[in-house]
Amino acid sequence: MRPIYLDNNATTRIAPEVLEAMLPYLTRTYGNPSSQHLFGEPVKRRVEEARSSVAALLRASPAEVVFTSGATESNHTAIMGALAMRPGRRHIVTTSVEHPSVLRLLGRLGETGYHVTFLPADSDGGPDMQALQETVREETALVSMMWANNETGVIFPVSSAAEVARGKGALFHTDAVQAVGKTPVDLSRAAADLLSLSGHKLHAPKGVGVLFVRKGLALPPLLCGHQERGRRGGTENVPGIVGLGTACELAASDMGGDMQRVRGLRDRLEEGILSAVPHAAVNGRRHPRLPNTTNLRLGTLGAEAILDRLSRFGIAASAGSACSSDGTEPSHVLTAMGLSRDEALAAVRLSLSRYTTPEEISSVLEVMPAIVEELTTMELVRS
Ligand code: PMP
Repeated sequence: MRPIYLDNNATTRIAPEVLEAMLPYLTRTYGNPSSQHLFGEPVKRRVEEARSSVAALLRASPAEVVFTSGATESNHTAIMGALAMRPGRRHIVTTSVEHPSVLRLLGRLGETGYHVTFLPADSDGGPDMQALQETVREETALVSMMWANNETGVIFPVSSAAEVARGKGALFHTDAVQAVGKTPVDLSRAAADLLSLSGHKLHAPKGVGVLFVRKGLALPPLLCGHQERGRRGGTENVPGIVGLGTACELAASDMGGDMQRVRGLRDRLEEGILSAVPHAAVNGRRHPRLPNTTNLRLGTLGAEAILDRLSRFGIAASAGSACSSDGTEPSHVLTAMGLSRDEALAAVRLSLSRYTTPEEISSVLEVMPAIVEELTTMELVRS
């Protein structure tokens, strides 16, 4: 059986069109875009073309797109830059279910004189908007709320959150890594000041990302240098940037159609598992969700054993997030939703992409009942 990849929220395969667009910039067209000669100029033009493609997908202007090394850097630049822009304000608001690249930075800032509010999540993984209203105040420098959660796929009400932040003069940042390419992200409508995205989650390579900086916001850089109009120093990752531009064009060209198909496959997978496995439940089901993600508990069976059996059949999925998937610590997202330690350790995340086929979903559904039966029998023998 050919391996089946259902871990697309961890990373995605590079689209063939993306690789093709990148190849010349890894071989003959190797100039530095800052060089004012015949090797540099075409490369600079190509970087600007890619910038326009990213901007078009986000409905932003090219001048608002800053290339970075990925979303971890974008998140750091956004947060540190926003705090520098609101020097008198010492309060930051985020949710308790953000990615570790946000949570850990804010945890550190909390130890150095900032007051950080981590908004609780409801039992389906959505942020507590009432608590947001109550906590944002005149000393709030920044509200950082993800657009969609990487573990559950739950989509957050970022436009409303941005309004609350702006109402008090705070800046609003959103980590939109999991949303871009899977659900419309329209910055002509959402009032975000800052937005992070990552190439490798939308079929571009790892090590390239974007920070959107709303026009007029003089955000100080994290990395100093002349590149990106002084907003991000360091020689540009030209092949990565070109690849990301093409990935954004692909996402823009048929996002609706692709994602409708992916949603159909995800729903079939989810329904199939729910009907085949007694006591199975979906985490985050009551909220709008990304079309490609399902996060399930299969009764009391541990995720580690399920993933191990799936991988024997050549099926790759994950427990919660890749970043905390050593199987010993329950996911911070699921525990914030009120799941017990055992329930959180039972969660399996299956995430699809536009390359997932109906046959692959059928194969997973075929092997799942046998896996569950085997593990249930083992559990009964042990107890
Ligand atoms: N935010 C979210 C929601 C993510 O899922 C990830 C990737 N796991 C990141 C940030 C970090 O992105 P990168 O790998 O580009 O640093």
